[in-house]
Amino acid sequence: MTPVPDAIPDEEPDPAPDGRGIDWPALRAVAREAMAHAYAPYSRFPVGAAGLVDDGRVVSGCNVENAAYGVGLCAECGMVSELHRTGGGRLVAVVCVGRDGTPLMPCGRCRQLLWENGGPDCLVETARGVLPMTEVLPDAFDAADLTEHG
Ligand SMILES: [Zn+2]
Repeated sequence: MTPVPDAIPDEEPDPAPDGRGIDWPALRAVAREAMAHAYAPYSRFPVGAAGLVDDGRVVSGCNVENAAYGVGLCAECGMVSELHRTGGGRLVAVVCVGRDGTPLMPCGRCRQLLWENGGPDCLVETARGVLPMTEVLPDAFDAADLTEHG
């Protein structure tokens, strides 16, 4: 007979090995809700993004396409706009999701947006787990480069 453990934890352990207690499922739920508002008639690839701000706010955005394909906006663009519109601050955790609700990697341009507004310590939930921005955008260009090389 298999021994039964004396104590079974009531809750799942924090899936993020970051020690910051970020509620990733809740953040993903906000991203999914944002995704439902996407305007993606051309690609039919709706995306939602949600970010936890250092003051506890949660901001979100959805992708917005355009008949001139090249001017489409990624979900992260709307999220960063909402970050500034609602008081600024720094992103500490971000997740982007597609139609199936699972994490999507931000595109290259949006990784730069996340770096600017979250910096190296911002965490991103990806298909291979929670990663710091230093792994999502290694050797990032940022404001320090403007002064060091300008
Ligand atoms: Zn993007």
